[in-house]
Amino acid sequence: MNLLFVASECTPFVKTGGLADVIGAVPKALAALGVSVRVLIPSYPELASVLGSGKEVMGFDDLFGGPARLVSAKAEGLELVLLDAPHLFDRVGNIYLGPDGQDWPDNDLRFAALSYAGAQIGLGLLGGWTPDVINAHDWQAGLVPAYLAQHDGPVPPVVTTIHNIAFQGVFDATRLSALRLNADQFTTQGVEYYGKVSFLKAALALSQKITTVSPTYAAELMLPEFGMGLDGLLRERQADLHGILNGIDLDVWDPETDPALVAPYSARSPKGKARNRSEIEGRFGLTPGEGPLFCVISRMTSQKGLDLLLDCLPALVGQGGKLAVLGSGDRDLERAYVKASTQYAGAVGTIIGYDEDLSHLMQAGSDAILIPSRFEPCGLTQLYGLRYGTLPVVARTGGLADTVIDANDAALAADCATGFQFAPINATMLGNAISRACAVHAQPKLWAAMMRRAMRHPVGWDVSAKAYLDVYQAVQKG
Ligand code: ADP
Repeated sequence: MNLLFVASECTPFVKTGGLADVIGAVPKALAALGVSVRVLIPSYPELASVLGSGKEVMGFDDLFGGPARLVSAKAEGLELVLLDAPHLFDRVGNIYLGPDGQDWPDNDLRFAALSYAGAQIGLGLLGGWTPDVINAHDWQAGLVPAYLAQHDGPVPPVVTTIHNIAFQGVFDATRLSALRLNADQFTTQGVEYYGKVSFLKAALALSQKITTVSPTYAAELMLPEFGMGLDGLLRERQADLHGILNGIDLDVWDPETDPALVAPYSARSPKGKARNRSEIEGRFGLTPGEGPLFCVISRMTSQKGLDLLLDCLPALVGQGGKLAVLGSGDRDLERAYVKASTQYAGAVGTIIGYDEDLSHLMQAGSDAILIPSRFEPCGLTQLYGLRYGTLPVVARTGGLADTVIDANDAALAADCATGFQFAPINATMLGNAISRACAVHAQPKLWAAMMRRAMRHPVGWDVSAKAYLDVYQAVQKG
């Protein structure tokens, strides 16, 4: 089977969140199942050297305002097709946001171009390689099926994957012709969404199947509280909606070989974890001690529930806990955590920013990772936590609910707990989970047993890659 991924980011080249990690990892797992996967992504400046090593396979005289070309290249074990459109993607800074912190004003054209290029590849215009199925990821690839629908003749089936329904790509209806969408697509069965153009709505209406990144999030998406206006459409499409749990790249995230660590370790020989902890204490200005070291590695947005954690800091610190926070985003949250590091000097440390290597070191050196998200499609940091023996303390929602086994009495008695869950999602219950974690940490044998179990919990892509393949095969037959 030939499979085309269309996505806006891909680890290790360009990443703003979990989407990139998934795009960088699944093709490798699918290749092991005999699928030929190519990944179409925009050629941002971060990909300049890969672009230079590639071969032009197709050109566009005018792709939404300028010339563009498709360049095929191999890098980091992936077969890439780069959309080289300098007028849209050759910009320094965040891939979605301008220097003012606002969306680039032409984001509609930028990601329409990505979708358009995906559709052209679907029509066989790459030459020599035509996808049997296209997997479009998130709103940025949402118009792939809309452009295919404008073609007379056979087109490949499209599967759309929702990584986070909070981002939908909604634009003014006056943009329809600039987006090269035919007027007859502006209907409730097509791209129209409450009088506007919605890329994600188009994808959900027009794709043969829809997947999302955990079974619980798939169920949640059909509820008004989580569906963000698209729950009704998803209820209609329930038979075609599949929740497939994300995995992680076990080669990139391996505490025995991870180059970002100061000391390697494993479930059999966990000693090195302590040296990584000392390094974290130094980097975050924390006083060395015996109590549990919690960490946060996160975008700072209301989704991630970090405001709830602020309310729990007195209790966390009061029980002898320490906290290291790495993140960036909402300015008020950034300021609040920087202030907390002064208020609880030596017990709370904050680094504002995005630092991939430091995130690895924190997974290695911490005892527990806090993820109090209000909603979480899958979440990856709890999976890294499990793999690194850093027990997740998580809100019971989405993929967090599906991947962490709460240390309640029954699970402890049955030796199957791997972390701590809380619900309902509020500061009181988060505080309660932190206290439970502190209590288990005070029993070193019990904690060590949970750590070993967490590290052996399967978090790779094997099972989920097969589930994706089943979906692709189903649409291919359909
Ligand atoms: P989301 O995609 O909603 O941000 P996920 O948990 O699915 O959440 O994925 C987040 C990814 O981004 C993880 O790989 C995490 O380690 C990484 N990450 C988040 N914030 C930072 C940061 N400040 N520095 C380094 N890595 C980060």
